[in-house]
Amino acid sequence: DITHGRILYLEDVNVSFDGFKAINNLSLDIAPGELRCIIGPNGAGKTTMMDIITGKTRPDSGTVYFGSTIDLLRHNEPEIASLGIGRKFQKPTVFEQLSVFENLELALKTHKGVKSSMFFRLDSAQSDRLAEILHTIHLEGSVTRMAGNLSHGQKQWLEIGMLLMQDPKLLLLDEPVAGMTDEETARTAELFLTLKGKHSLMVVEHDMGFIRTISEIVTVLCDGAVLAQGTLDQVQGDERVIEVYLGR
Ligand code: ADP
Repeated sequence: DITHGRILYLEDVNVSFDGFKAINNLSLDIAPGELRCIIGPNGAGKTTMMDIITGKTRPDSGTVYFGSTIDLLRHNEPEIASLGIGRKFQKPTVFEQLSVFENLELALKTHKGVKSSMFFRLDSAQSDRLAEILHTIHLEGSVTRMAGNLSHGQKQWLEIGMLLMQDPKLLLLDEPVAGMTDEETARTAELFLTLKGKHSLMVVEHDMGFIRTISEIVTVLCDGAVLAQGTLDQVQGDERVIEVYLGR
């Protein structure tokens, strides 16, 4: 097993854009059920790394495995999504004209490839799962509300709920607490701690307080490679990390 039991395994990955090395011999792995935070200055390669994992960008060289058997470089973007890798971009993309319930139901239909909604009914396992997700994302009191009327934080949670309806093994989240109130950020931390263990999560964030609450291991990316990795205290005390954040 070249991945050593890891759910996500990147080794010596390289990507250049017009001769510029955006990803430079990047090696990184994540254990099943782990919640990993990724930090790093602008231009470090965080977005490009997520693009590689989800099949949006094809690397020039390297190894990218999902579990011990799936070579992600052999799959395109929609295939990777259906293999169980969900991605959430910074901006929420819920359907504003639909209710919370309808958004979650639609996410399931899309995942199942249901073309016509006319005869689609949730079975009892799916209904149970939807209820459980509503509870996890703190929206059980807002089932019939239009998504457009939710707060920014609630929209972010709904979008996470939509990903959960598709039963992902690995979730990639880009700045999930950006623009949230302190209370919403605290509830998002709670939500992530609920997901940890059941799913593997890779979270790109800048909010150090939030990272401290949720993550055991933090990876610092810089110039397309891992600069440092460890607890938040370890990486924040690392000379090279301090230089990258303060010295440039
Ligand atoms: P981060 O998300 O950490 O801010 P990115 O992955 O967006 O970093 O970018 C890494 C580097 O690659 C940056 O210098 C950026 O300008 C460059 N880059 C990203 N995408 C492209 C692209 N499609 N074409 C050219 N350069 C790109």
